[in-house]
Amino acid sequence: MLKNIRIVLVDTSHPGNIGAAARAMKNMRLQQLCLVAPQQFPHQEASARASGAGDLLDCARVVDSLDEALSGCHLVVGASARSRSVAWPVVSPGEAAAKLVTEASQGDVALVFGRERSGLSNSELDRCTFLVHIPTNEAYSSLNLGAAVQVLAYEIHLAHLQGQRTASERPRDLATAEMLQGFHEHLAQALDDVGFTDPRQSEKLLRRLRSLFQRARPDKDEINILRGILSAMQGRKSMRR
Ligand code: SAH
Repeated sequence: MLKNIRIVLVDTSHPGNIGAAARAMKNMRLQQLCLVAPQQFPHQEASARASGAGDLLDCARVVDSLDEALSGCHLVVGASARSRSVAWPVVSPGEAAAKLVTEASQGDVALVFGRERSGLSNSELDRCTFLVHIPTNEAYSSLNLGAAVQVLAYEIHLAHLQGQRTASERPRDLATAEMLQGFHEHLAQALDDVGFTDPRQSEKLLRRLRSLFQRARPDKDEINILRGILSAMQGRKSMRR
C-alpha cells in the first residue's frame, strides 16, 4: 500500500529540494507529498527539479503545522541526519522501510524530513514513533534533503517488492525435525555401508553435513528423494530396476 505512505517535508527553504523529493518519490512509486510551511512553493525551480514528477507537486498538500500534516497517521518516522541521544529510538533504513510498508496496509503512515539547515526540532521529534538514520561518514553525516528522500524512498520500494515476492511464493512444506533426524541417521549408515567414512573422522564429517542440510532447509519431497538415493547406494533399491 505505497499510496498510504506520506512523505512530509518540514519548512523547506530550497524549492529545488521539493522538486527533487517529488522526483525521488515518483521513481519509487510513492504518491503522497505533504509540505509543512514551505518557504517558496509553488516555484519554478521545484517544477524544474521534479522533471516528470510535476503531478506529485500538483497534488502536494501544503499545511501550516506538522500536526496537520500528521493527521490520521498511526505511525510517524522521523529522518534524522544525526544519531541522536537515547531519547528517541533510532532504526536502520531497512528496518524503518519494512515497518512503514507493513503498517501502511492498515492506514496512513508518515516519514518526516527536516529543514536543510537545522533538521527537525525536539518538539517535532517528539511526534515521531522512532527515528531513522542513514549510515554515513560520521564526520559528514548530513545528506542533501532530496538525496535523503531518495535513499529512504528506495528502501521503501525494496521492502514493498520483498513483501510482494513473499506473498506470491508458494509456502514450502519443510521437512520436520524427525524427518531430518531420520535422514541423518540413514546418511551415516549409508556412508558407512559404502565404506566412505573413516571412523576417526566421521563425527566431524557428519556434523558438517548436518550444517549443510540445516542451511539448505530441505522440504519433505527433497528428503524423500535423498533417502531414495541413500537406499539405492546401499543396494536395497536400484533406480534403474
Ligand atoms: N543540518 C541538519 C540536517 C539537514 S538535512 C541536521 O544536522 O539535522 C535535511 C534533512 O534530510 C534532515 O532533517 C533529515 O530529515 C534528512 N537527512 C539528511 N541526512 C540524513 C541521514 N544521514 N539520515 C537520515 N536523514 C537524513
